[in-house]
Amino acid sequence: MTSPTPAGSFTAMDDAMTSDADIVAAARRFTRAWAELMMTLPEYYDCHMTCGEAEAAADLFRAVGDEESAVEIIDVHAAHDQPEDDHYDQLRHSR
Ligand SMILES: [Zn+2]
Repeated sequence: MTSPTPAGSFTAMDDAMTSDADIVAAARRFTRAWAELMMTLPEYYDCHMTCGEAEAAADLFRAVGDEESAVEIIDVHAAHDQPEDDHYDQLRHSR
């Protein structure tokens, strides 16, 4: 029997998600569920990711084998980048 977990502690979550297989399965479920929403956030919800957020999201999709969505996440994000942002030139030179 384990001792009670204090409120706000991550101990219970750490114990529940112990294997890499669990984490990979959760990442696959997340990316399948969020693939369409990731592409529509900027236009439908006026929700724009920072360059770092877009790269992190693309990395997750790429890690589960969805390269097409990873590229699209960056492209959709880059359309809203300003000249001083990381992806501004990337999108304009790729078309
Ligand atoms: Zn960017």
